Amino acid sequence: MVPTAEHFDVVVIGGGPGGYATALYGASAGLNVAMIEKGKLGGTCLNVGCIPAKELLETAATYLHVTEAADYGINAGEASIDWDTSLGRKDKIVGGLVSGLGSLLKSRKVTVLDGHGRLHGDRRVTVAGGSSGDMELTGDAVVLAPGSLPRTLPGFDVDGKVVMTSDELLSIPELPKRAAIIGGGVIGCEFASMLSDLGTQVTILEALPKILPGLDQDVTRVIEKSFKGRGIEIRTDVKVEGHAPAGSGTTVQAGGEGVDVDVVVVSVGRRPNTDDLGLDGTGVKVSDRGFIEVDERGRTGEPGVWAVGDAIATPALAHVGFIEGVLAIRDILGEDPAPVDYDKVPWAVYSRPEAAFTGLSEEAAKEAGIDVVTQKSRYNHNGRAMIVNQAEGMVKVIAEKQADGRAGRILGVHMVGPWVTEQLGQGYLAVNWEATVDDMAALIQPHPTLTEVLGEAMLSLTGRPLHG
Ligand code: FAD
Repeated sequence: MVPTAEHFDVVVIGGGPGGYATALYGASAGLNVAMIEKGKLGGTCLNVGCIPAKELLETAATYLHVTEAADYGINAGEASIDWDTSLGRKDKIVGGLVSGLGSLLKSRKVTVLDGHGRLHGDRRVTVAGGSSGDMELTGDAVVLAPGSLPRTLPGFDVDGKVVMTSDELLSIPELPKRAAIIGGGVIGCEFASMLSDLGTQVTILEALPKILPGLDQDVTRVIEKSFKGRGIEIRTDVKVEGHAPAGSGTTVQAGGEGVDVDVVVVSVGRRPNTDDLGLDGTGVKVSDRGFIEVDERGRTGEPGVWAVGDAIATPALAHVGFIEGVLAIRDILGEDPAPVDYDKVPWAVYSRPEAAFTGLSEEAAKEAGIDVVTQKSRYNHNGRAMIVNQAEGMVKVIAEKQADGRAGRILGVHMVGPWVTEQLGQGYLAVNWEATVDDMAALIQPHPTLTEVLGEAMLSLTGRPLHG
């Protein structure tokens, strides 16, 4: 849609979660918004991130259900994978969400422009190189949301066949027999879990002493045990030195040893996509690491210009981009919004078993010098967990220790186990509303549900457990 006006209340550069949330929320608030996107609407998240990754994880989960069907007395025959159909389903879901987003933006009367956006002085934005043609817009406010790109490693040139990043893996034409995943962070572990469940022999190569740094140690242990039990090799504290292609695969050199694989997935984080944003003649500052520098409300050094999402140095999560977009618009409207509390954002890891957490881990609380009481309640006695055949895992609650020694305010909720990404909501509310253990223990959990384990943890922290 080519604009009929060249001046807008808000001009947004980038149409990923950060940018489109800004545009949609701004339009909901009655602002006249233009949004410029040079690639596909929905950005990383919809096209090569959250949605396709979770869809393929669900493919792996479905395969697993079928292989376990006989336990339920259901004879489904031998399960096999038709990968083309799996990729087709994933593409259909992605396509549906991308086109749905386009319709939503249209219905909110957001002017969507196809092209590369660059910011200049006086909140002038040029658009070039796309199907909308070249033009210049101005905004009372401009929001920068250019997102991020996968990081790569020297010596690992991405060819999309043997060496790949998440971008290529999510459309891999054939499942590999053996894969090395460099990087045991959230995305690396999700890929390891998915590939392993689909029959690939997986080796994780992690430079740090443990995979999933940032997660509570007890949660990580459960995931490590499950991964190892399924034959995923986890090598921590290893430096990856390079690789030597051989035949249709390659040998990765790591910690002085070779790992023979068909594909290498480089999953070592993402870098802000801020190389070509213009910015000359503006007060927008970019750090040495490439992040746009902002204050606690997302304001850059240029008056009237905000930045949100993966391009700023906050947790690189789609839902963080959403809330930063909302915050920017509220600030533009002069509503004096409270800044985002980044220490309490919800995190979700969609591996098998899943992990989800919010607030302080036990280690982080202790490092901060806070006296805590903790409780671990496990899924192995929970009826629903047994019914769904996923009884590994636990809910760990970290609460402030009161002067009388009892557990008080809830500081962190860390979960690992069945569908915990869907269960974190109560923990998130508890931590962010500064609820106490007594507040939470008084609530009813429906029976039989997985969330009863959270309820048990709270009751146990009052000193009076019910089931255990
Ligand atoms: P992006 O999504 O990167 O979007 C930026 C957009 O801006 C892009 O479309 C780009 O083309 C466009 N753009 C850039 N520069 C310009 C310019 N100059 N002009 C015009 N357009 C421009 N997060 C979660 O919360 N949950 C998950 O489960 C999850 N899973 C993930 C799995 C994978 C494999 C990956 C890679 C990421 C995952 N993430 C997840 C992270 C999530 O995808 C990102 O945090 C989110 O997409 C960031 O949103 P954004 O809008 O800041 O940037």
